Amino acid sequence: MTSADWMGIARHTPLGILCDLDGTLVPFAKTPAAARPSAEVVALVERLSVSSGVTFAVVSGRAKDWLEGCFPAPSVRLVAEHGAARRGAGAWQLTTDLDPAPLAALGDRLDALARRHPGALVERKSTTVALHYRDVRRGRRGELLVEAYGLLDSFLAQHPAFERLEGNMVAEIRPASVRKSSAVPWLRDLAGAGARLIAIGDDVTDEDMFRALAAQDESVLVRANDDDHRHTAARWELSGTEQVHAWLRWLHGVRAGEAPLDVPLPRPHMRPPTRSIAPGPSLLVISNRLPEFGHLEPDDPDRKRNVGGLVSALEPALRARGGMWLGWSGRTVPDSEPPESGVIDDGPTQLAWLDYRESWYRHYYSGFCNQALWPVFHSFPAQVTFSDVDWEAYLQVHEAFADAATAQIGKNGTIWAHDYHLLMFARAMRRRGHLGPMGHFLHIPFPSLDIFSMLPWADEILDGMLDFDLLGFHTPQHVDNFRSCAAALLPVRIAEDVVHHRGHATHIAAMPIGIVPDTFREPSEPAVLEEIDAMMRSLGDAKLVLGVDRLDYTKGIPERLIAFGRLLELQPEWRGKVSLVQVSVPSRADVPRYAEQRATIEAIVGRINGEFGEAAWVPIRYLYRSYARPQLASLYRAAAVGYVTPLRDGMNLVAKEYVAAQDPKNPGVLLLSKFAGAAAEMKDALLTNPYYPDGMARDLHRALSMELPERRARHAKLLATVQRSNAVTWAEGFLDALAACR
Ligand code: UDP
Repeated sequence: MTSADWMGIARHTPLGILCDLDGTLVPFAKTPAAARPSAEVVALVERLSVSSGVTFAVVSGRAKDWLEGCFPAPSVRLVAEHGAARRGAGAWQLTTDLDPAPLAALGDRLDALARRHPGALVERKSTTVALHYRDVRRGRRGELLVEAYGLLDSFLAQHPAFERLEGNMVAEIRPASVRKSSAVPWLRDLAGAGARLIAIGDDVTDEDMFRALAAQDESVLVRANDDDHRHTAARWELSGTEQVHAWLRWLHGVRAGEAPLDVPLPRPHMRPPTRSIAPGPSLLVISNRLPEFGHLEPDDPDRKRNVGGLVSALEPALRARGGMWLGWSGRTVPDSEPPESGVIDDGPTQLAWLDYRESWYRHYYSGFCNQALWPVFHSFPAQVTFSDVDWEAYLQVHEAFADAATAQIGKNGTIWAHDYHLLMFARAMRRRGHLGPMGHFLHIPFPSLDIFSMLPWADEILDGMLDFDLLGFHTPQHVDNFRSCAAALLPVRIAEDVVHHRGHATHIAAMPIGIVPDTFREPSEPAVLEEIDAMMRSLGDAKLVLGVDRLDYTKGIPERLIAFGRLLELQPEWRGKVSLVQVSVPSRADVPRYAEQRATIEAIVGRINGEFGEAAWVPIRYLYRSYARPQLASLYRAAAVGYVTPLRDGMNLVAKEYVAAQDPKNPGVLLLSKFAGAAAEMKDALLTNPYYPDGMARDLHRALSMELPERRARHAKLLATVQRSNAVTWAEGFLDALAACR
């Protein structure tokens, strides 16, 4: 469309205009109250509203009284609270009959939270409550958001008729049925038969409006700056509120028959994802697995495990930055067919997906990732299988991911790659000319030099990793291991936390991942917990010792069961008084070692139950299945001992979840392997050596016998750590550090 075409719609009668307020008519200010339209803007809106053949509506998320205070003239149509209330020719009407009463209590809790976080502000409206955090200092937003999301999510769990909405530095709870899109048919009716509409806005909430338009209508996105490459349904764009004012003046002039002013008219919006022209999202997260979406098998426990915690950590960061997440779709295609890729953007975060060839699944995923890198990085040399074919597939999949990434993100975009599946990703991207910052976080341990050197491709992998600008690890020990490997295997220069190699500097840092603690603290609906309650009743008065792991040889499940058997042998007074519940989530069943491990565990359970069991007491309940988070939280809360004893683990989130779920007045004891990454932070747990069954049996006895004051003192310190170093502070901390690398 050219300026002549714009002239066509500007002169069309009837014409309806739906115009957002904040960020569109009014620039953002420090507080919502300070962002008021100037007298000049109000006058312009009023002039347009009384133009013949024009129906003008301000469509805003603001409260109706506030909006009416700004635009008192009845000729200006108003849509408040994202569509929940609107003022046509007469009085205000509400479009939802949802009882807003529960919002009052939520508002109080958010107020209490905002008081502790300078800059945070709670806005209460008649049908919504919003938490603004634009003014919270950048490095402090994570702490606020992790608590805020805990509150909002538990509110939503109890009030499903509401939903959470993410705006520009604001999180809002509103009735789920309310959308700005409802303003579109309403205004079309008001404007009259044959109307063409123009919708203009800057915010994610305006996208609903854009999508509801018809073919004869136009949509204009207001971009605050050139780095804002958010995906939009809008066809046109303007830069900033001043251009909006100028264009509205032009529109008014055209309708009034004046000579057209020379102003920038909306120009076509450049759409991702066409390669090289498209600027794309500003942040691309890439991991082997994606958050849940339609293509994936719903019952794959590996996927839930891999992305569950990561989603909570990354979602706020991705939303705040308009990011995209790229990963495997979970589907494989025969090698004779080309693997497909695509983008889904109907959820809160845009997802880009890629199918794997069957041979990639076999050689890259099951092969190199899970039978070479996984055992080497966890220091299990006996479990290793190396093959050239697997290594070639590892490199090939990196190329496929790099092609998919290049199609989505501009050369200067920020990339954050995750885990051992993507160690060579920066190299593949640099070869394609990527210039923007690239970081990698390793979710598993990094081994010592003697173990790492077992990899036939050790030098090449290190060399590839050093193409990243930032490498994040869970613990200082993993960082030290990486540093020693780089120093020994490559001609690098190392200055503290920066490794210089081939003219490029790579920062290395320990940044332990956390959880969203509140999601394990809120009690759940009784119906969800029926099954867990029944199990607890069947345990009678016996104390519960709880193990929760994926079924993996690194988790030390046989060693844990054997130590429990030793406890019953060495301390017979515990017989009948304690039961071990071991939840083992099925994992990688197509890798032979995992099938063997399962058989070993089942044999040990059978032996111990046979040897010690009584008619009214089963020593070990073994559950080969997975549980949803609320059920897990209730199991954690019921357990006197969290028995978390991996032989080696990058972090171990179960340890942190167990602590978060405890009743602080009567908490259980965390018995934690000193070989879990979590042990580096959680020194107040009872630390144990899983390789020594008698020692572990003694530690278990000590945990079961620990008096209340010691339990409370240890738990208070552990909880403070889990809350301080959480999922959101981790993600924000990584992205801040990555930005600081350049
Ligand atoms: N988990 C789950 N359902 C289960 C068992 C475990 O959702 O039945 C989750 C658990 O809450 C935790 C994750 O799986 O978030 C396991 O993470 P961890 O770091 O302990 O071990 P990983 O499996 O990543 O090696």
